[in-house]
Amino acid sequence: MKFDFRQLTSHFQLYGNFVVAVPYGTGHINDTFQVTFDQGGTLLHYIIQRVNTNVFKAPEELMDNFLRVTRHIGAKIRDERAVNPATRRRTLEVVNSIYGKPYWRDPAGNFFRCYVFVENARSYDILETKAQAYQAAAAFSNFQADLADLPQRLNETIPDFHNTPSRLANLEKAAKEDKLGRLKSVSREFDFIMARGKECGVLIDLQKEGELVERVTHNDTKLNNVLIDDLTGSGCCVIDLDTVMPGLPHYDFGDMVRTGTSPAAEDETDLGKVTMRFPMYEALLRGYLSGAGGFLNATEKSLLPFSGKLITLEIGIRFLTDYLEGDVYFKIRRPDHNLDRCRTQLKLVASIEEQYDAMRKLADELA
Ligand code: ATP
Ligand code: MG
Ligand code: MG
Repeated sequence: MKFDFRQLTSHFQLYGNFVVAVPYGTGHINDTFQVTFDQGGTLLHYIIQRVNTNVFKAPEELMDNFLRVTRHIGAKIRDERAVNPATRRRTLEVVNSIYGKPYWRDPAGNFFRCYVFVENARSYDILETKAQAYQAAAAFSNFQADLADLPQRLNETIPDFHNTPSRLANLEKAAKEDKLGRLKSVSREFDFIMARGKECGVLIDLQKEGELVERVTHNDTKLNNVLIDDLTGSGCCVIDLDTVMPGLPHYDFGDMVRTGTSPAAEDETDLGKVTMRFPMYEALLRGYLSGAGGFLNATEKSLLPFSGKLITLEIGIRFLTDYLEGDVYFKIRRPDHNLDRCRTQLKLVASIEEQYDAMRKLADELA
C-alpha cells in the first residue's frame, strides 16, 4: 500500500522538512516505516506505523495503554539520567498529531501513529545464543519491574487473553461440535491435553486466592521486540507495545520459554527437532530474575518453570481448537498447518515435563 508520507507526516508534530520514508523492520502485524526529517541541517529519524485495526479493534484504548506505559518508564529514565547522564536505557516516545492526539486517522480510516526512532540499536529476528536469551529476558523483566508501580489498571484490550481454563473450555466445545469430523484423527493430541486439564487453572486459581498478583505484561516477548544497544550489546528498549495489558508476569516468562528454548520452528513437522534446551531455559531464567527478582514474591518465583509448561500447553490448545473449528483464526498455508503447530507445542510440553525436576531445582536455587 502506498501512502503520501509528506502529506501524512504533516499531521504529526514533526518539525523541519520531510526528506524520505522507507519501509522498516520485519514486523508481521503493523506496517512500519522510517521517515527522515531535515531539522536545520540535522537529519532526524522517526517511525510511522499504520496500526493493523483488523487485529486491534480498539486502537484508541491501545494507545492509551501505550502512552501510560511509555510516560511512566520515560519519567524513571529521566530521573536516572539526572544521576547518570551516560545511561543508554530508553523507551518509545510518542509524537502526537497536530490535533493533540497520539494518533491520526486518515479519511480512509487508516490509523497512524508516530514515535521517535531509537538510534544506535537494532532488533534481531532469530534467537540463537544464550547471551541473546539472557538479554531479551532481562529487558522484558526490567520492563515489568518499571511498571510494577504503575498507578491504575491498564485497559484489558484483549479480554481473557491468557485464561487457560476458558481456552480449554473452547477446545471441549469445538470437540463436541466436531464440525469437520476431524476429532477422530486427533484423539492422541486431544487426550494429551485433557490429561493435563487440571493444571490449566493453577495460575488463575492462585491469583483468585491472592497468592499471585496481577501486574503488567507485554504479551509479545519475542527477541525482535527488544532493541539491542549497538555499543553495549544489552537490551536497551522494549518495543511493540500493542498487547501490553494487565496480567500475570508468568505469561511473559512462560511465552519466552515456549518461543526461546526450542530450536525448531513453531510449525516444524519433524518432531524429533522439538526439544526444550536446558541451557536456553537457564539463560532465560537468569536474565528474567535479574530484573524481576526484586518484585516477585516467593510463590511467583516458584511458579516460573510451571509457566513455561502452561503457556506452551495453552497455545497447543488454541491450535487444536482452531484445527477442529476449520482454521478460522490462525492463517494456514497447508491443510494440517494448525495440527502441525499443535503437535510442536505438545512435544515441547512433553520435553519440559521430562526436565521438570531440573528446571524447578534451578529456579529454587536462583530464587
Ligand atoms: P510484530 O510482528 O512483532 O508484532 P509489529 O508489526 O507490531 O511487529 P514493531 O515490532 O512495532 O511491529 O516494529 C517493527 C520493527 O521496526 C521492530 O522489530 C524494530 O526493528 C523496528 N522499530 C520499531 N520501532 C522502532 C523505534 N522506535 N526505533 C527503532 N526501530 C524500531
Ligand atoms: Mg514486533
Ligand atoms: Mg507487534
